Amino acid sequence: MLTYDIIIIGAGPAGLTSALYACRANKKVLILEAKSYGGQIINASKIENYPGIEEITGFDFATNLYQQVKKLGAEIRYETVLRVDENKKVMTNKGEYLSHAVIIATGAENRKLRIAKEEEFIGKGISYCATCDGNFYKNKIVAVNGGGNTALEDALYLSNIASTVYLIHRRDQFRGEAKYVEELKKKENVEFLLNETIASLNGQERLESITLTNSKRELIIDGLFIAIGQEPKNEIFANVVDLDSHGYIESFDGIHTKTPGIYVAGDTRVKELRQLTTAVGDGSMSATVALKELSEH
Ligand code: NAP
Repeated sequence: MLTYDIIIIGAGPAGLTSALYACRANKKVLILEAKSYGGQIINASKIENYPGIEEITGFDFATNLYQQVKKLGAEIRYETVLRVDENKKVMTNKGEYLSHAVIIATGAENRKLRIAKEEEFIGKGISYCATCDGNFYKNKIVAVNGGGNTALEDALYLSNIASTVYLIHRRDQFRGEAKYVEELKKKENVEFLLNETIASLNGQERLESITLTNSKRELIIDGLFIAIGQEPKNEIFANVVDLDSHGYIESFDGIHTKTPGIYVAGDTRVKELRQLTTAVGDGSMSATVALKELSEH
């Protein structure tokens, strides 16, 4: 069985930063990623709050980091982790690997509305990524659902592409930054629909309209961008970590899980602020602590 010093699960900013630190310490590093490198940040149209970088796209940031880590010698395998045991054996859909330390940096996935036809209409009018799919809606009518930075950024991005953008949020206060709200208010093609949620998704072959819960208004739209936050998928790790009621990994110090040699980093852990800056901070800390503890054994 292939054995590594550190196996990192997840190739988002937290996992890649852990790999960066571990590689620079000359360790044998394997990164396991189920989808593609970059995590959620790869879909950010622009990042303006990363210290030292005035503005960069999420794609460029993620790609730079990925290439940096590859250059340093990290091995990346695109495999889905199925189980990790207390001996730091990691089982995937393609094989089994042993490691002296494991860092779980699996981030979180897009939260679903969980209403009828949502799954059916994905790719047929429903998207969770404005930067990926926005261009399909040139001069069309779209709606964005959510009140965080993602929804606000998506609405701004789409306002430059679509003819009309409805911004639907369940409260009258936004969770995202005021700067984005002010920019959106200046846009003539953006309509705010506050204190509203989506009651139903309507259409036969694809999404044709949505009905709002309070006003009962039916909006004829071509596309709906759902940006209502993320949620973790950590059930497979429940044998080696404690999860909170939302499924995030508990850690008494932001690094250690309840199993020695298994660490956590990034959005997937219980934490106050889930941002790029805190993800890379977690990544560097978990790798540094893991390396220190490896050297002590
Ligand atoms: P978020 O901040 O958790 O916001 C999720 C939004 O969706 C909230 O407004 C929430 O409403 C709403 N919501 C949640 N569940 C809902 C449901 N079932 N139905 C309707 N609405 C629902 O998520 P996010 O916007 O994806 O951002 C995640 C993190 O990434 C945040 O820390 C954010 O600041 C960061 N981020 C940063 C940038 C940037 O700095 N450039 C860009 C994107 C994201 P309530 O407000 O009522 O709870």
